[in-house]
Amino acid sequence: MTNDQHGFSTRAIHAGQEPDPRTGAVVPAIYQTSTYKQDGVGGLRDGYEYSRSGNPTRTALEECIAALEGGAKGFAFSSGLAAEDCVMRAILRPGEHMIIPTDAYGGTFRLVDKVQKVWGVDYSLAKVSQADSIRGEIRPGVTKLVWLETPTNPLLGIADIAAIAQIAHEAGALLAVDNTFASAYLQQPLSLGADIVMHSTTKYSGGHSDVVGGAVVVAENIGVKEFSDAAERVDFHQNSMGAIAGPFDSWLVLRGLKTLAVRMERHCDNAEKVVEYLRGRKDVTHIYYPGLDSHPGHDIAAKQMRRFGGMVSFQLDGGEQHAVDAIGRTKIWTLGESLGGVESLIEHPGRMTHASVAGTELEVPNDLIRLSVGIEDPDDLIADLAQALDG
Ligand SMILES: *Cc1c(COP(=O)(O)O)cnc(C)c1O
Repeated sequence: MTNDQHGFSTRAIHAGQEPDPRTGAVVPAIYQTSTYKQDGVGGLRDGYEYSRSGNPTRTALEECIAALEGGAKGFAFSSGLAAEDCVMRAILRPGEHMIIPTDAYGGTFRLVDKVQKVWGVDYSLAKVSQADSIRGEIRPGVTKLVWLETPTNPLLGIADIAAIAQIAHEAGALLAVDNTFASAYLQQPLSLGADIVMHSTTKYSGGHSDVVGGAVVVAENIGVKEFSDAAERVDFHQNSMGAIAGPFDSWLVLRGLKTLAVRMERHCDNAEKVVEYLRGRKDVTHIYYPGLDSHPGHDIAAKQMRRFGGMVSFQLDGGEQHAVDAIGRTKIWTLGESLGGVESLIEHPGRMTHASVAGTELEVPNDLIRLSVGIEDPDDLIADLAQALDG
């Protein structure tokens, strides 16, 4: 058994994953089963009755991710958005209000603007890189959830988790942090006062671009008394709404988590080298990377993150078409959406991941290029970027 005193990788490799008592199998089995034999009516073995309510492979992942985030209870979902939807439904009721970042993940904005709002939950946008702008959007007694991303996607904005947790709690609202970009290795929001942490495990947690999934971890100590039952609420909604992670998907994410620490170190090493290269180019007009001293959130990032991550965005002189053409010329960087896999990806947020926010406050610059720096050999990545940008 692992405990909180063990290091990150020890927990990643062992938490929730005791060798099988019957066979000694070191890796949790994929329990590809929908139901479980009962020993007499109601005689459940180990609590399992039906795989929407619980499945041992999913339990292993849920225990592992809870241990990595330092929370009380973990939940695994079929996608990141399913995880977000479950948190929002579990916490918010029609007539209540939430705050989301001006540069939130496009799918998060769409979920809030087009789905939660129809249900009667209102929202405001705030610049989460300025903690005071959150305070300005609070509606006393009505705001029940503050949603943060840090770093944000795709502009790598940094929010001060500890400061915003305090603002949210004073207002009687919970703080949920989308920790997808940092990963549990680089940042643990619950230790900074957040109540709920959420991941698209599709990204760094899975890490190999072979699974779509989501996760939620609820803190041991909830900052608002009204919500001290937050874990039970998420548990109830996960089962009632049903968007659970299947056994094989759970197994893939669990396998990915084992190498999260070594992968993240390499993602960070490579991203730093790519940033260094981009800094040397005259046609790169702006680089968004929290590891740069010039980044407005650098000091906060240095305080709350272990390192600065594998995501880099930059603007290229020459306008939208020039950026789009350059993106189309890479040979090792794969042109595609998503992020956080071992392979490097390049994309144009304005026309791809963030097309759904065009014309809103969340619109991104049209000459912006986003990189998910993978773990290939950095010299190859830089040479490929060079030929693509040179045309
Ligand atoms: C991808 C992503 C999501 C959504 O997750 P899915 O697994 O695609 O549903 C949410 N937040 C961030 C920051 C993401 O990158």
